[in-house]
Amino acid sequence: MTDCLFCKIAKGEIPSEIVYEDEKVVVFKDINPQAPVHLLLIPREHIPSADDINEENSYLIGHIFLVAKRLAEEEKLDQGYRIVNNCKDHGGQTVDHIHFHLLAGRQLLWPPG
Ligand code: AMP
Ligand code: ZN
Repeated sequence: MTDCLFCKIAKGEIPSEIVYEDEKVVVFKDINPQAPVHLLLIPREHIPSADDINEENSYLIGHIFLVAKRLAEEEKLDQGYRIVNNCKDHGGQTVDHIHFHLLAGRQLLWPPG
């Protein structure tokens, strides 16, 4: 997608604070952090939302969770962390390229609003 913000970040066309990347995923700092650690994990492939995961692309989601776990180890998030996906309007999704928030560094509240 040529006009997608996160596709542009993945291609390096828009600057971001990238903390990890490989051939399948890019991880960068959220521009408006909601916790001391707030990363966004995205596939390079343009998948609009969690509602668009299918048999062909679901391996990317497993890989994203593996990367999240490794990053949590590296960042020493021993006290835990939260992985969030907001899906479509009622889920609060504002960027239509699937992404997973990795939040940590403080006690997170539940339930969400
Ligand atoms: P969501 O509301 O789940 O779609 O999350 C979108 C997230 O993208 C929000 O937390 C924003 O702060 C974040 N965001 C938007 N633009 C950028 C950007 N250019 N660089 C980094 N994070 C961004
Ligand atoms: Zn995209």
